[in-house]
Amino acid sequence: MHELAIAQSLLDIIVDESKRHGLERINKVRLQIGKFAAVVPESLTFCFELVSRDTVASGALIEIESVGITARCDKCDFSFDVEDQVFLCPRCGEPALELLSGRELSVTSIEGETGEDDDGNQGPSCS
Ligand SMILES: [Zn+2]
Repeated sequence: MHELAIAQSLLDIIVDESKRHGLERINKVRLQIGKFAAVVPESLTFCFELVSRDTVASGALIEIESVGITARCDKCDFSFDVEDQVFLCPRCGEPALELLSGRELSVTSIEGETGEDDDGNQGPSCS
């Protein structure tokens, strides 16, 4: 299962990042996924919930931003958005072989808590 492997590697990145920033709990993770990566967002979210169990990212909200596919024709140097997986250059009709975007699969932001709250918003207040 494709998404399970992806979820696992994303989790590795997230756990790594959270250690670096001293996060003890992850609230939200934002991902950027290219349409060419052929990932089903619902499936990835589901797999992520499975693999993140008992980690800092357990229960984190996953936000997926999908990135459209753009390609460039190397015959006429024209860049265009790819619709329906058609990679033919709309200008000269040659197949465009260079993918400019659409293969993204990355963590763009992580929001979490460090556990060392130093602002006075938490805890009882006695004024
Ligand atoms: Zn072209």
